[in-house]
Amino acid sequence: MMRSYLLLDPPSASDFCRRGSLREKDDAQNAPFPNIDLILLSGAVREAGFRPVYIDAQLDRLTWSQLTDRAGLEGVSGVVSLVSSGRIEDELAALKKFCHTLGDVPCYVVGTVILLRDKMRLQRLVKDNPWLSGIILNTAEHNLTELLRDGVDRIVEPFNIATQRSTQLMVPDVKVRYGDAHKMPQPDHAIFKDRRYCFPQSKRGPVTCVQFSFGCPFTCEFCIDNQLYQKMLYRDVDDVVEELVEVDRLGFREVYFKDLTFALHKATAIEFLTKLAAKRLKLKWLCTTRIDVATREMLTLMKKAGCYGIEFGVEHSKESTRRRIDKRIKNDRIHEVFKDCRRLRINTTAFIMLAFEDDTEEDVRDTIRFARALRPNYVSFNVVNVLPGTAYEDRARREGFLRESSSDYGFAASNIKHRFLTPEQVENLRREALRSFYFTPSMILAKLLEVRSFFELRKLIRLGLGTI
Ligand code: SF4
Repeated sequence: MMRSYLLLDPPSASDFCRRGSLREKDDAQNAPFPNIDLILLSGAVREAGFRPVYIDAQLDRLTWSQLTDRAGLEGVSGVVSLVSSGRIEDELAALKKFCHTLGDVPCYVVGTVILLRDKMRLQRLVKDNPWLSGIILNTAEHNLTELLRDGVDRIVEPFNIATQRSTQLMVPDVKVRYGDAHKMPQPDHAIFKDRRYCFPQSKRGPVTCVQFSFGCPFTCEFCIDNQLYQKMLYRDVDDVVEELVEVDRLGFREVYFKDLTFALHKATAIEFLTKLAAKRLKLKWLCTTRIDVATREMLTLMKKAGCYGIEFGVEHSKESTRRRIDKRIKNDRIHEVFKDCRRLRINTTAFIMLAFEDDTEEDVRDTIRFARALRPNYVSFNVVNVLPGTAYEDRARREGFLRESSSDYGFAASNIKHRFLTPEQVENLRREALRSFYFTPSMILAKLLEVRSFFELRKLIRLGLGTI
C-alpha cells in the first residue's frame, strides 16, 4: 500500500494570517480557502511516491490534541505543515510534539516571508529545532521531491544554509526570469475539495487555488509579498491549462489564481488565455492584478477564458501618495479600468489602504469616497501597517513614525504613529469605511439581487454572521 504524507494547515489559537490565506476577523475579506503552498506541494509529495492527505485543522476547528486523535493518522510517513508569521516558535513546539506522537516522523514546514527576510531568526530556528527536517522557503523551486524520494526521512546534520541543494533547507536564489516554462508536478486538487471553502467573491463552489506565476518585479513600498519569490517565474503554459482541465473534471467550479500580478508577462498571458478559452471549461476564475496590466485587450481575453472577478490594489485616492509608495498609477486610469470591467461584466475588488502616516481625517474620507466612486463589487479596507523587511519600514524608522511595540500582520490595527490621527480615530474610520460600503441599504439590496445560487446565498449569510 502507498505510504501517506500529511499536508497540514495546523490548529491555531485564533484566526490568523498565514502565507497564502490571509484571514482576519471583522474583515469583509474573511473567507477560508485552501492554502496554495500546500496545494503545490501535494504534487511534489505524490511525485515522491507518497499519497498526500490533507487536514485543515482550522476549518475543522481542531485543537492539537483533537488533531492527534484524528483517525487515519496512524501510518502517516511524514508531515508538511504551514506555520504562521507571528507564532512560529510556539507552533514548532506543538508540531514537534505532534510528530513525536506519530512516531517521530519527519516534518517539513513552509517558511513565512518573515523568515526569508530575517536570516538571523531563520538560523536560530534551525539551530533550536534539530528535529525539523526542513524549511521550504520557495514552493516553486525546491528539492522536496528528491528528499522524500531518496528516503531522506531522517535528520541530516548539520543544517547548512549556504549549500542549498544538498541539504534539507531550501533557499531561493535571486534572478529575474520571465517566460520560463517552469515544470512542476501537477497538484492533487481532489484532496482539497471541501464545500466549506469559498472566496469573498465566490458565486459557486467548490473552489480551489492555482498558481501560474511566482514573484512580482514591482517595488511598492509597503509590500512584502514581492519578496516571497525573488525572481519572476512562469509555469509551463500547457501544464497549467492541463491542471485547470483536471480541476474542472473534478467538479470544482471556481479557481482563485494566487499569482501576485496575473497576466504581467503579456505574451505568456495571451498564449495561456487563448489556450484556456479554447477548452471551454465550466469553471470560472478570479485573480489579482495591477491596473496598468488590465488593458482593454487583456480584460477581453480574460473574460473569454472564464474570468469572473479581478482584485486591484487601488490603495489611496491621492496620486501623490501612490507615487510616494511607488505605485504610479493615474486616477483616470483606475476609473477607466473599473468601467471596462463593468462593461465586460467582470466583478471587481478594490484593495484600499486607510490612514498613511500623514493622512488627515479628510484624506481618509476622501479615499473612502474614491473607492465608492469606482463602484467595485467588493472593497478590502486595510489599515496601513508597517511590515518588517519592507522599504516602508526603513522610511518609518528614518522618519520616526514607527510604533515599535506592535506589529500586526493582519492589517486590522496600525503600528504607525500618525501625524494627524489618534489610534481611536483610525479604528473608527476603518469601521466607518466598512459600514459605508457594505451596510448601506442599496449595497445590501444589490448583493441580494446578484445572488444566483444557494452557494452564494449561504456564503453571504456566513460572511455576514462571521461564522466562516
Ligand atoms: S504590484 Fe502588488 S505584489 Fe507587486 S510589489 Fe506592488 S503590491 Fe506587491
